[in-house]
Amino acid sequence: MPEGDTIHRAARTIAKAIGGRVITRFETVVAALARANDQQPIVGRRIDAVTARGKNLIIAFSGGLFLRSHLRMNGSWHIYRPGEAWMKRRSDMRVVIATDDFVVVGFNLPIAEFHDARSLEREPDLQRLGPDLVADDFDPAEALRRIRRYPDREIADVLLNQGALAGIGNIYKSEVLFLCGISPFALVSSVADGELERVIAIARKLLVHNVERAGGSRETMSSLRQSQRLWVYGRRGEPCRKCGTRIEYRKQGPDVRGTYWCPRCQTRHEA
Ligand SMILES: [Zn+2]
Repeated sequence: MPEGDTIHRAARTIAKAIGGRVITRFETVVAALARANDQQPIVGRRIDAVTARGKNLIIAFSGGLFLRSHLRMNGSWHIYRPGEAWMKRRSDMRVVIATDDFVVVGFNLPIAEFHDARSLEREPDLQRLGPDLVADDFDPAEALRRIRRYPDREIADVLLNQGALAGIGNIYKSEVLFLCGISPFALVSSVADGELERVIAIARKLLVHNVERAGGSRETMSSLRQSQRLWVYGRRGEPCRKCGTRIEYRKQGPDVRGTYWCPRCQTRHEA
């Protein structure tokens, strides 16, 4: 699952390419979108805004229409010039939004749905979102309160819970806990407020930094793995960059998500 910063970056990049422009072509294989487009055509509308909320990417069109998409594990948004070859198969295409200058393609989107302002606000996936780590008005105290709702859960699992705080994916989960020296298996109840505040602050710093690193308007969603030197994520069996101990790996939590950690650097609160 992409991290929240990836979605924010995609939103900025797409906004730069097509924000304020008029849609000249709209194409979709999603039946509900196609039906809605028949009734209220998308072509001719302007793109008012492209925003990220948690891991949702929301495109606002003139006339009070919104397209909410969620990438889950395999979805992605790409930006092409007209006529340029796509990097994914046409059969993976779900939505195409084109202006005179750019073609924005959503591939394998598990969620792509139209909303008006009211139905968007009522959307349960958006309502349950915790504070968004990348948002300008991020509220760390509220994030701390929400993490505290899960005293008996392991900290790594709770960091992935988008209802507690929105934006951390599996990569940052491992990285942030390493940077804080906290065992991923520590129960939330065993972690002091000050330490949780530090976890929240470091997560926000990493995510915001990566949003701001965003490159030119052609950039599509790139993997953190390729673009960043990571402390523990994906480094099972390799030496810790701080102490040389072998990095360990284990599936964790109800969703059996992979967790990487250094058993020497992250001993705090071990059960
Ligand atoms: Zn170490």
